[in-house]
Amino acid sequence: MKVGLIGLGIMGKPMAKNILKAGYDLTVNDLHQANVDEVVKAGAKSASNIEIGQTCDVVLTMLPNSPQVKEVMLGENGVAAHMRPGTVFIDMSSINPMASKEIAAELAKRGIEMLDAPVSGGEPKAIDGTLSFMVGGKQEVFDRFKPLLQTMGASVVRCGDIGAGNTTKLANQIIVACNIQALSEALVMAKKAGVDPELVFQAIRGGLAGSTVMEAKAPMMLQGNDKPGFKIDLHIKDLNNALECAHSVGAPVPMTAAVQEVFQWLHHHGCGQDDHSSIIKYYKMLTGIESL
Ligand code: NAD
Repeated sequence: MKVGLIGLGIMGKPMAKNILKAGYDLTVNDLHQANVDEVVKAGAKSASNIEIGQTCDVVLTMLPNSPQVKEVMLGENGVAAHMRPGTVFIDMSSINPMASKEIAAELAKRGIEMLDAPVSGGEPKAIDGTLSFMVGGKQEVFDRFKPLLQTMGASVVRCGDIGAGNTTKLANQIIVACNIQALSEALVMAKKAGVDPELVFQAIRGGLAGSTVMEAKAPMMLQGNDKPGFKIDLHIKDLNNALECAHSVGAPVPMTAAVQEVFQWLHHHGCGQDDHSSIIKYYKMLTGIESL
């Protein structure tokens, strides 16, 4: 099977290397030649987006958001126009589920099937090949390509028809953002009240408030470490998609709207490229606390 992958950023690069390790014939492209060169060194071939469409049995993308995926697949010189009927497109980017459905409908006119297959886990799990995939699309297409996704992920779950993968990813992003905000608010409140936030963390991490978010982000907050991880600007993108999706289906998401306002404030205070645990900076600035 010939596999194509377009988008070799923080996530796409290590994911490409894991596909290669599993022995697949992989052809790649990215706007940045240095990213392409690194993956070619690991054994991939390099080609233009159009050549990838012409030659590959399955085309994968790992791009920033809906506009980039639409442009790469359906824009002028888009990949879709060059793919053969019977080939498959798998988008692993986190995009708006409505955009996934629009792209799938266009591809269906050309006899091309699509899965939306965003991931959770970030760069460390992309490197280890232990990402969690949440997938939307037809069962038989999912079954055929699950082994390919398993070269990059430890968990690969079909959540429903096309768009269900990205809807699940939006749910994930809402839960993570609200958790980080609650954790920030609580640790700064403890500090302001004169209790050591490190001891608060140690005392509560094993109880009901403990969480994967707490384990990953509390140490970063306590150390004042804002190195991404997952950038605030990317989380703003995901929550914009969540708000748009929620508004279109009539689901109330007041907590998502509140945390998005905090992210926006941080973006305008120069923190857009910091890790999303930097929500704590909002509370620090408002309380005058410099470190936990
Ligand atoms: P990134 O910005 O590091 O990488 C995107 C890559 O796409 C870049 O290398 C860019 O050059 C390339 N690109 C853009 N347009 C292109 C085009 N027309 N042709 C070829 N290449 C093009 O982003 P990332 O962190 O790798 O994230 C990718 C997706 O994965 C996003 O949707 C993000 O939300 C999601 N995601 C990221 C993380 C994370 O921790 N970084 C975790 C889970 C999911």
